[in-house]
Amino acid sequence: MWIVYENYMVMRTTKPVKERDELLVNYVNSTQDFEERVEFFESHEFECACTLCTLEHEESTTSRNLRTKTMQELQLFSDHDYLTYPAKVKKALKLVKTLQGLGKSDPAYNVCLLHKSIRILTVCLYENGNYGKCADLLEKCISVAETVGEGVPGFTLRINLIRCWMEMKNILELKKQLDILKKHALCWFGSLDAISILDEDMVVDLEELGIKVFD
Ligand SMILES: [Zn+2]
Repeated sequence: MWIVYENYMVMRTTKPVKERDELLVNYVNSTQDFEERVEFFESHEFECACTLCTLEHEESTTSRNLRTKTMQELQLFSDHDYLTYPAKVKKALKLVKTLQGLGKSDPAYNVCLLHKSIRILTVCLYENGNYGKCADLLEKCISVAETVGEGVPGFTLRINLIRCWMEMKNILELKKQLDILKKHALCWFGSLDAISILDEDMVVDLEELGIKVFD
């Protein structure tokens, strides 16, 4: 996050920085497909050498084609009602496994996990009571979001993760996740209020479990 004030540029960083450290900002949405990002950069006569672009640039054609094909199949599951059938959920999870296998060189940069259809899948898993599977998938998506600098989507995914742990009544994990969420609320939004703005009910539900969100 940055603002320009007269001759100064004020930046808020997500991790501590030392003098002379390089500060990086996103020019594009990192969740966009590699091809879309390349097209954007080419039109600006620019070549991106970030870790994500480098990794995807080095990816083999076979792997990229399989990714495109799997993502297309997964799009079919973007319809929420379609996923009410357990067999469809099972098939969608299988596709996710294929996608995860493609990000072996560095799973933390596997941005296809941030796709809308995967978010819908996590919602369906939650609604079907598959809290453990849902939490597992959310953890992976969050780790990607935070690695590629998409902290705000990562923040909302973590709220969903907290919802899963609430269902599983895992107080220890809940406290741990809430501490991270609070840290990120301050980092990304500058205030803890972001938590109740995004999910006021969660604050109430946590308090019912004896966990205070605001001291
Ligand atoms: Zn890049």
